[in-house]
Amino acid sequence: MGEDFLNRGMETMTPSELVAVQESKLRKQVEYVCEGSPFYQRKFAEAGLTAADVATLEGLARLPFTTKEELRDSQLADPPLGNHAVAPMREVIRIHSSTGTTGRPSYVGITHHDALVWRDLTTRSLYTQGVRKEDIVIHAVGLTMFVGGLPVKDATEHLGATLVPIGTGASEKVVMALRSLHASVLHCTPSYAVYLAEYVRSHYGMDPKELGLERIISGAEPGAGIPAVRKRIENDWGVRLTEGLGNADMAPIIFGECPEQRGMHFNAQEYIIPEIIDPDSGERLGIEEGVSGELVYTAIDRECCPLLRFRTRDRVVVTATSCGCGRTSFQLRCVGRTDDMLIVLGVNVFPTAVKDIVASLVPETTGEMQIALEKPGPGVAPPMRIMVEYGADVSDLPSLKSRLEGLLKDRLSIPSKVELVPPETLPRYDMKGQLVRKLYEEAR
Ligand SMILES: [Zn+2]
Repeated sequence: MGEDFLNRGMETMTPSELVAVQESKLRKQVEYVCEGSPFYQRKFAEAGLTAADVATLEGLARLPFTTKEELRDSQLADPPLGNHAVAPMREVIRIHSSTGTTGRPSYVGITHHDALVWRDLTTRSLYTQGVRKEDIVIHAVGLTMFVGGLPVKDATEHLGATLVPIGTGASEKVVMALRSLHASVLHCTPSYAVYLAEYVRSHYGMDPKELGLERIISGAEPGAGIPAVRKRIENDWGVRLTEGLGNADMAPIIFGECPEQRGMHFNAQEYIIPEIIDPDSGERLGIEEGVSGELVYTAIDRECCPLLRFRTRDRVVVTATSCGCGRTSFQLRCVGRTDDMLIVLGVNVFPTAVKDIVASLVPETTGEMQIALEKPGPGVAPPMRIMVEYGADVSDLPSLKSRLEGLLKDRLSIPSKVELVPPETLPRYDMKGQLVRKLYEEAR
């Protein structure tokens, strides 16, 4: 059983032990930030707080949030990394980027120490997902600025597994590597796992199962947490699918799902403090099974860009607080981003919920869909327009359409107008899927 945890001490701590570890590091981080970050010096002063006031988990709740908009403004005002960055540029060994809310990327720097911290917590998340030294891992995600690219490469190699760096847009190479190297693990987005199965069938006339994959580890979008999508990927490939969740401004893979598959375990015990808040009131919610809200992170071991109470805009649900695998950290699923949420007749709808319904009707649908928005959300004038690909063998389209509209009404309480389109007509993605199609010009 010794190899069930990468770091047994950290992964099986009691809640009070965890608080002690986190508070001692929080105190140091806050002092560091108050000394070196003009951004936080201003924030603390405006809130009338001193470093000592937020040196405990309880005190931390008094500190105002840090938002993505603030980071963007800080970077525009004080390039290249912004005045929230603390370490001098000569200590920065790499720069990644995160997509901003307006499409303009923001830059995230890491020092040598930050890189080691990222490597440690990401390795822990990969190990939680079952990746071992014996595995050959095909890395089919972006290898450039993307935080899930090179840092996950570092972690995979640190674990001792064999990395095959393929990147995106190279399905032929992925299939070749699967056939000739007998890779056991594929790391990619759930959209790509779906796409690649179709590709293997259409280009090679093969059943993807014949390629002998054992596991797919996925991330970067909520797809793997959508039950019907997960089932489809697992059936297509004959694998176990687990997912991870990170954040470009915080760390590569902060949560990782264990083989019990009940959600993603928190894996950055001594590096990050997670909070779940009510997205409207900003109130901190208790981390208990069933609680849902927005995920907020505080870095407690970061040199370059230490963020305190950073609002991720990720909407999550706590799925468990104990687990058969023995890890004591809580587990969650991500249902989408605040930016993706739509409101129809006062009802909040995440596109992932629509996707789940469409994918649950495979093979009558191909599982592919897009919500068509005439105007910027979140408000959507009813009925919601949804384009859905029907399956290749479907003849009675009117009855499929009314079945889908009925399910959307029953399960999500929204009126919809489903437009059935032929198979293979909606776009496919090798990175994140787009569940929403904007029919309007975007203001910049
Ligand atoms: Zn577990």
